[in-house]
Amino acid sequence: MAVSSGPAAQAVPYDVAQAVLQQELAAFSHWATDFLATIEQQRVYPTTQPGTVAAALPAHPPQQGEAFAAIRADFERLIVPNLTHWNHPRNHAYFNSSASIPGILGELAMAVLNNQGMLWHSGQAATELETVTLDWLRQLLGLPSDHWGIIYDTASIGVLHAIAAARERAFPDVRQRGPAGFGGKRPRIYCSEMAHSSVDKACIGLGLGLDSLRKIAVDEAFCMRPAALEAAIQEDMTSGWAPFCVVSTAGTTSSTSIDPIAAVQAICHRHKLWHHVDAAHGGSMAIVPAWRHLFAGWEQADSIVYNPHKWLFVPMDCSVLYTRHREVLRQAFSLVAEYLITPQHSVTNYMDYGLQLGRRFRSLKLWFVLRAFGQQGLAAIIQDHVASAQWFARQVQASQDWQLLAPVPMSTVCFRAVWPDVDAAETDRRNEVLIQRVNQAGQMFVSHTKLPVNGVPTYTLRMVVSHLNTRLHHVQQAWADWNRHRAGMNK
Ligand SMILES: *Cc1c(COP(=O)(O)O)cnc(C)c1O
Repeated sequence: MAVSSGPAAQAVPYDVAQAVLQQELAAFSHWATDFLATIEQQRVYPTTQPGTVAAALPAHPPQQGEAFAAIRADFERLIVPNLTHWNHPRNHAYFNSSASIPGILGELAMAVLNNQGMLWHSGQAATELETVTLDWLRQLLGLPSDHWGIIYDTASIGVLHAIAAARERAFPDVRQRGPAGFGGKRPRIYCSEMAHSSVDKACIGLGLGLDSLRKIAVDEAFCMRPAALEAAIQEDMTSGWAPFCVVSTAGTTSSTSIDPIAAVQAICHRHKLWHHVDAAHGGSMAIVPAWRHLFAGWEQADSIVYNPHKWLFVPMDCSVLYTRHREVLRQAFSLVAEYLITPQHSVTNYMDYGLQLGRRFRSLKLWFVLRAFGQQGLAAIIQDHVASAQWFARQVQASQDWQLLAPVPMSTVCFRAVWPDVDAAETDRRNEVLIQRVNQAGQMFVSHTKLPVNGVPTYTLRMVVSHLNTRLHHVQQAWADWNRHRAGMNK
C-alpha cells in the first residue's frame, strides 16, 4: 500500500501546541496550589442538586476544537464546586483516599509517559519498578519474602483475582470447561457477615453465584467466630458442598473489626482451603511495627489485598494483591496471543497475572510516595490518625448524649446519638436526620453503616480519620459540630 506523503509531511502538529502545554501547566499549577492551600475554606460536600451539572453542559460535542483556557475556566466553574471533596481533611466518610503531593506529581508523570505496562517489552522500567516497590511495600508491612505482589486498580478486582486463583487451585478444570469443571461439586466460599460486598461481587463475576458464598456470624466485637466457621465447613462437607476458600477481613468496612486471622488460617490449613485476607484499608496499621500483632497469621495466608489508595496517601487508584502462589495466579489467567509474544523469556509480564491487558504505570506514584515520606514518616502520620480517632472515641464514651457502638482498633469510630426515653426505631431515624444535617452544612462529610448491636441492625454514624492532612484540631472541630447539630435537633 502506498503511503501518502500529504498531511504527514506538514510541520503543524496535530496535538495542541507545546506552548499551550507550558502555559496550562503553569495555570494548573496555580490552580492546584491554590485549591489545596484553601481547601479548608471550601465546602467538603457541595450544594449540588441532581441533574444540575449535566444540564449546564452542552448536549452535543464541539464541532471545532476549543481554546484550552476556556476548557479550564469551565472546569473551575462547573466541575470543582460540584464535587464532594475527597482531598479535604474534613472528609471523614467511607474510607478516605488522599492525593498527597508526591502522589499528584506521580499521576502527572504517569500521564506524560502514558506507558502501557502489559509486558516487560512494553514497559521495562514500569515492570521492574512495580516489582521493586511492591517488595518495598511488603517489607513496610512486615510480610515475609514469599509474598509476591501485583497492582490492580481496586481491592474489588484484587479479591476477584484471589478467588479465581483459589478456584484454579481447587478446581483446575474450570478454566477450560467452565462450570462442568466443578465435577458436580458445589463450590463454597466463606467470609464473615461484616465482609465487604466485593466478595459477593467476585462470586457473581466468577460465575460461582451468590449461593456459593456463606456468611459466618461475628462476635460482639464484629469479628468472625472461628468456631462458627469450622462448624459451617463441617456441615457443608457432609451436604454436597466443596469448600475451597475463606476470606477474612483485617479492618472491616463498617467498623474496622479484625477477624482472628491466625485462627482462620489454622482452619484453612486443616481443610486445605485458600485463605485470602482483605486488608484493603486496615493494612496501613502494619506500617507501624508495634501494631503488626493485629495481623498475626496473615503472613501465612495465600493472598492479601491492600489499598495504598486508601490510607497510604497514594491517589486513586492503586490496590495491591500479594500472594504466595504467583504460579497459580498465572495459571488462572495467562493466555499469550501471537501478537503479545516477545523475545524476552526471563522477565515478568504482568499481563499474565490478571484479566486486564493494558496497565497504567501505577507503581510510579507509589514509588514517589514511599520515597517522599519514608517508613518513619508514614508510620508517624498513621499513629497520629489513630491517636486523634481515639480522642474522639473518648469524648463519645464520656458523654451521655452519645454512645460508642464498636471497639476502635484503628482510626474509625462507630457511634450514635442517644436520647433518654427514645425507642430504637426513633433513635435510628434521628441519627439519619442528624447525618443529613451534618453533610448539608458542608463543613465535614460523614457516612453511616448498620451494625448488628446485640443482633439488632442499628443505624451507626462513622467518623474515619485517615486523610493525610487530618489533624487533631479537625477532629476536635468535628466533635463540636456533631454536638451543635445534635443540639439543633431538639429545636
Ligand atoms: C474499601 C474496601 C474494599 C473495596 O475497595 P475498592 O478498592 O474500592 O474496590 C474492599 N474491602 C474492604 C475491607 C474495604 O475497606
